[in-house]
Amino acid sequence: MNKKISMLKFTDIFDIDEIQEIQDTFAKATGVSAIITDFAGNAITRPGNFCRLCKDIIQNTRTGCENCVKFNADMAVDHTRGPVFQPCPGPGLWNAKIAVTIAGNHVANWIIGQVKDEKADLQKMLAYADVIGADHDAYAAALDEVTTMPVKQFTEITQALFLITEQLSGQAYQKLQYKQIVSSLKQSEKHLVQKTRELQHTMDHLVEAMEKNQAMEARLRQSQKMEAIGTLAGGIAHDFNNILFPILGFSEMIMQDLPRQSPVRDNMQSVIDGAVRARELVQQILTFSRETEQDCRPLKLQLIVKEVLKLARASLPSTIKITKIIPTDVGMVMADPTQMHQVILNLISNALHAMEENGGELSLSLSEADFSEDNLPAFEMAPGPYVCLKVADTGQGMEPEILKRIFEPYFTTKVRGKGTGLGLAVVHGIVKNLDGKILAQSTRGEGTAFYMYLPRFTREQDLCDENKKVAVPCNGNEKILLIDDEKPILHMLEKLLSRAGYRVTACDMPQQGLKCFTQTPRDFDLVITDMTMPEMTGDKLVAALKKVRPDIPVILCTGCSENTVTAKTSEAAPDKILLKPAGREDLLANIRYLLDN
Ligand code: ADP
Ligand code: MG
Repeated sequence: MNKKISMLKFTDIFDIDEIQEIQDTFAKATGVSAIITDFAGNAITRPGNFCRLCKDIIQNTRTGCENCVKFNADMAVDHTRGPVFQPCPGPGLWNAKIAVTIAGNHVANWIIGQVKDEKADLQKMLAYADVIGADHDAYAAALDEVTTMPVKQFTEITQALFLITEQLSGQAYQKLQYKQIVSSLKQSEKHLVQKTRELQHTMDHLVEAMEKNQAMEARLRQSQKMEAIGTLAGGIAHDFNNILFPILGFSEMIMQDLPRQSPVRDNMQSVIDGAVRARELVQQILTFSRETEQDCRPLKLQLIVKEVLKLARASLPSTIKITKIIPTDVGMVMADPTQMHQVILNLISNALHAMEENGGELSLSLSEADFSEDNLPAFEMAPGPYVCLKVADTGQGMEPEILKRIFEPYFTTKVRGKGTGLGLAVVHGIVKNLDGKILAQSTRGEGTAFYMYLPRFTREQDLCDENKKVAVPCNGNEKILLIDDEKPILHMLEKLLSRAGYRVTACDMPQQGLKCFTQTPRDFDLVITDMTMPEMTGDKLVAALKKVRPDIPVILCTGCSENTVTAKTSEAAPDKILLKPAGREDLLANIRYLLDN
């Protein structure tokens, strides 16, 4: 229906049956025959009330027909708007034509006639029979049947038809326009629906993107939070370690002094255990904030598992059974024992928690696994030899949405007080740090299994000097310069070293210590200094000492991580960095090692 107006045909806008009826009724009422033709003179409607004269007599002769056709064609192409009167080739006969226009475009002709002029001369009219070669009598009889009226009446009829036609085509055109509007409305509606759908799509995408963004922001905020905790923890740890250092040192000395049978020994041991646990706790906080110095060494996980189980058994309800497959010949891993303890404890306590209500079975198994490129259990892993610890329970299990999030820091499904959501985050951090991988499998209502893969330690890997140190005898009588601004630490160290036979000069000011050393550098065999001090930091002091005497062994004690220190002290590195609070044996072993090598 979207045709251009100039291309519209009569049949596009008029219902032919309706127009036929109007045409025929009009013809009957006026006694004037009518037909509607198209532009070229072809009939659109059937002729109405046609007189015999035309079709039976005139058009039956060759000349009459030719005249008629030409006459009709001339009339058809006449675009004149309004009625056109035209005398027929046959004299005394009149025709009229009304151009049907739609919005100014001539689409059809409504032709009426012929009628006989009341005043026409009969003789002249009959003469046309001879012109076209028709039978005279038949012509006269047919002519007699032709409607006769005054020309004026005919013009009035024509005028009436013109008005009707104008009205009809105006209405038809409006109807057409209306149809077109409706159809274009429908089209727009379709378009709108389509656009709405597209918009919905775009919105969905946007919302999805926004959600992703929010999740990312949340993660970012999370990691910023973690960072803040890390920084805070790092700061606290430094002070805390300074407090722990003398507690541990003095306790150990007291322990040494106590006779074997003393009833105080037990209490003293508890103090030491407590201090050691406090040290481990600080260490754990630091692990989590990734600030910690790991004490990695070749380690048999068998021992750690045993230790943790011993702890867990104490609080184990009778409804939980433990099975384990822990072969002794499974290889070692390079890891920090404290951290491994923590990892296994976290996994086991989660498992136990999951079985708290209904009981079940906790199974632990340790095995070796060798992965090549094609059989890696997770794609971020490097091929190679691994040790796998599986911790499985038959507890409540997890829905997939939960499982996805368990390693997130602070993600917990437990009530306040029961869970912090840090356990698996710590596990993940530790394992990742060791180039390992932790995987979890779970089915709601059936249970959960965690698989921890850690690179297997092989012989080629350098055994660290830690083992060598332990073997050497730790006492000595060399001269040691001790510098620490914290008096309790200074005091404790001085005592500890003196007990081991060393001669100690203690200074609580770095400047004073440096002065002392500069005066008689050959008097000292070793220097122990703190890192964080007013006036002069430990690393600067090390540099100054080494400038005076490059071969002097220096131990730098610090509460911060080794990485931070080595980065700062790259020019004049201390010979050993000890993390506070170092235990007595650790300190003595290191002193001995430096003096002997
Ligand atoms: P927390 O134990 O403090 O909630 P975790 O990081 O250790 O934090 O664990 C996070 C969450 O993972 C738990 O709250 C629990 O929903 C789920 N989860 C961990 N281990 C298991 C398990 N063995 N069985 C079922 N759910 C577990
Ligand atoms: Mg937990």
